Amino acid sequence: MRATFDNSYTRLPDRLFARQAPVPVANPALVEVNAPLARELGIDPASITAQVIAGNVVPEGADPIAQLYAGHQFGNWVPQLGDGRAVLLGEVVDIHGARRDIQLKGAGRTPFSRGGDGRAWLGPVLREYVVSEAMHALGIPTTRALAAATTGEDVYREGPMPGAVLARVAASHIRVGTFQALAARRDTEGLAALTDHAIARHYPEAEGALGLLAAVAKAQAALIAGWMSVGFIHGVMNTDNMSIAGETIDYGPCAFMDAYHGATVFSSIDRMGRYAFQNQPDIAMWNLAQLASALLPLIDTDEQAAIAAAQDALDGFAPAFRAAWLGRFRAKLGLTRAEEGDEALIVGLLQRMSTSGADFTNTFRALATSGDASALVNDAGAWDSWAPDWRARLARETGDTGATMRAANPAVIPRNHRIEEMIAAAVAGDFAPFHRLMAVLATPFDEGPETAEYAKPPRPEERVRQTFC
Ligand code: AMP
Ligand code: MG
Ligand code: MG
Repeated sequence: MRATFDNSYTRLPDRLFARQAPVPVANPALVEVNAPLARELGIDPASITAQVIAGNVVPEGADPIAQLYAGHQFGNWVPQLGDGRAVLLGEVVDIHGARRDIQLKGAGRTPFSRGGDGRAWLGPVLREYVVSEAMHALGIPTTRALAAATTGEDVYREGPMPGAVLARVAASHIRVGTFQALAARRDTEGLAALTDHAIARHYPEAEGALGLLAAVAKAQAALIAGWMSVGFIHGVMNTDNMSIAGETIDYGPCAFMDAYHGATVFSSIDRMGRYAFQNQPDIAMWNLAQLASALLPLIDTDEQAAIAAAQDALDGFAPAFRAAWLGRFRAKLGLTRAEEGDEALIVGLLQRMSTSGADFTNTFRALATSGDASALVNDAGAWDSWAPDWRARLARETGDTGATMRAANPAVIPRNHRIEEMIAAAVAGDFAPFHRLMAVLATPFDEGPETAEYAKPPRPEERVRQTFC
């Protein structure tokens, strides 16, 4: 792989990472290369080989490391996590001038692997590939998939599974948990170096740790509003899975809702529903509070003053989230102006969708295409008690409300039953469903020949009730 690496993270104090080459595998084979993304990174797609993606060959200029981090997992503090099955090959500056990480996920054991095998199997690799690329096409900040390869080795989960590696691209892999790891070690110097690095890289206009905190809070507010607008449930919003850059990161047991219910949970490991759909804004705020506590020593030498200042910065989250959420949902209803009653109108529809068990994606798409979602929002009188208010409100708009709605309400999302079907086929050696799914999700707001098929909610027997890591 010919890329121009410039590895700024390795210039940070070396206790923030461990040098770690990917561990070679038996028999690498490429599954897919994201050629447009490669070009964006200044990489010739033809130079992306199975040997590089599977980790058998380290490209010239790469300086592979495993990054240290800690985190709260389901609210419980874990002082050391770190890249247990990923190595950061290095950073490139893309054609737009933005610095991007290239990471291999599933690349073998590292000093942070604990009991794990350092590997990934094909199912989660393809799920992350499809869902992260779909998220990008939906206009929501996310890490990207550059390529995937199978390893020719089995990975043991419930049984033997085909091993795979995902090459992932991110604005950075710096997490809330990266700051927490240093704060917990009382490493104020390391914390300061990481803070300067994150500011220079992601928020050059931010001033100091407090400015960084405020900027991350704003970015997360926009991100979570994006998730809420497409029915996305991350599933594992641990602090180690929250990106400082404000991208969706670490697709595990994530899922898009079919029928709308705020309390929806898919993840098999989320037994208490901590990361349920409707909890995501509060959890983001909880995670930001952990970032704030990690940054306190840099905010003010007087702890009380630091806490008060951090609280002020955190207070920016709720209004930023509300504004972003209203913006997203106004557009979904075809509204470009702001009126007092808009929130009640939005919430009124969501409540009726919930009691009707209406499909989230298809209800909003029906508003965009026919203006009639009565077949979906079908709880007794639900549609008729809402639609006239919406039509009256739409009449006070001037532009092309249909176009606004079609650009805000996707026709297709990566539905769980399609993902599971795609994974089952790939494990059996058939990658056609993966390619079809990728093709239809590349333009989620446009109707294509396969759109109607992929827009269908699952039949009862196709419904996926739980997702697994
Ligand atoms: P996750 O829940 O995927 O965000 O991962 C939490 C932590 O477990 C991270 O530090 C991962 O690197 C680590 N981890 C997950 N799977 C494995 C594995 N198969 N081998 C080693 N470490 C892993
Ligand atoms: Mg080190
Ligand atoms: Mg993670």
